[in-house]
Amino acid sequence: ALMRLCSKLAALLRRSRPFAAATAAASVSATATAAAAANGMEEAAAGPLRTRVCIIGSGPAAHTAAVYAARAELKPVLFEGWLANDIAAGGQLTTTTDVENFPGFPDGILGIDLMDRCRAQSVRFGTKIFSETVTSVDFSSRPFRVSSSDTVVHADSVVVATGAVARRLHFAGSDAFWNRGISACAVCDGAAPIFRNKPIAVVGGGDSAMEEANFLTKYGSRVYIIHRRDAFRASKIMQARALSNPKIQVVWDSEVVEAYGGSDGGPLGGVKVKNLVTGEVSDFQVAGLFFAIGHEPATKFLAGQLELDSEGYVATKPGSTHTSVKGVFAAGDVQDKKYRQWTTA
Ligand code: NDP
Repeated sequence: ALMRLCSKLAALLRRSRPFAAATAAASVSATATAAAAANGMEEAAAGPLRTRVCIIGSGPAAHTAAVYAARAELKPVLFEGWLANDIAAGGQLTTTTDVENFPGFPDGILGIDLMDRCRAQSVRFGTKIFSETVTSVDFSSRPFRVSSSDTVVHADSVVVATGAVARRLHFAGSDAFWNRGISACAVCDGAAPIFRNKPIAVVGGGDSAMEEANFLTKYGSRVYIIHRRDAFRASKIMQARALSNPKIQVVWDSEVVEAYGGSDGGPLGGVKVKNLVTGEVSDFQVAGLFFAIGHEPATKFLAGQLELDSEGYVATKPGSTHTSVKGVFAAGDVQDKKYRQWTTA
């Protein structure tokens, strides 16, 4: 019964998102080690752990690396993080609903279910998984060193597959109402009661903005897409879905300049939106504001030890996963700002 409880706690925590995650993480931290053990994860090692391959990440690229390395009997060690970058283990796909474009699932599959399957496949072939966030690496000499708060791994080779995280905008009130109406993940937070039957806004003009706006029409009375230009970059099919949804209204050529609270001093009460052509500022009384404006690669922990490009993505030699350090490889969204798809990761 204890094992089942711990397993359930770990699964719940892996699924929890920012609105719920902060409290959930604090309240169950004491059970984390037990939960990890029950879930087939490795507990913290006493001294440095030696491995041929250490993988950092928990998304499609990380688990693909783990499955291949494990089947090649390289006994990989994988750090999946503990709410690293504020995202549950499994990465960005855990923040989406139906994945319809991954081959082999003609009826679609929930992102979280797809990632649970990937993890199970890595474990099946003997990958050791630590539910800890990597805080530093040392690639200056061999073996390479990869450290979390509890564990140090010495590795002959390292795969960096830490993905990317959603970008946020900053304006008056954006921090005060963060997680109090403002979010960067509609799928994670959209179902919260504060948004039910209330107007909601999404910022962005890419596929994410279209997807999130459509998703939010399930909960909100109306959804505004606020976009800084007069055209979307989203794919035609995603645009068509959004534009034909009667609950969606587009606010072109505009940016949010301020967020303010409700009259009761509670969460978000609305936003001021500036038209970038006319300069006019309008008031939108929305209960929710969701950023869907792209992502930042999760590379800060590398502390300059790998060559990065101008936008902070790991630089890889064209057509390969080789980085600037021999024996250190990068895969997935942490080095791909063009395709950013499961299949390419
Ligand atoms: P994108 O980079 O494609 O789009 C980001 C959007 O945010 C753009 O419209 C951009 O405006 C806007 N933006 C960026 N910075 C700012 C800012 N500072 N202020 C205001 N607006 C800003 O990111 P997405 O997350 O939408 O998509 C990433 C990738 O994932 C794409 O390849 C996409 O196709 C894919 N994807 C696919 C999905 C699917 O097929 N189901 C679902 C979601 C994503 P501008 O256009 O003016 O630059």
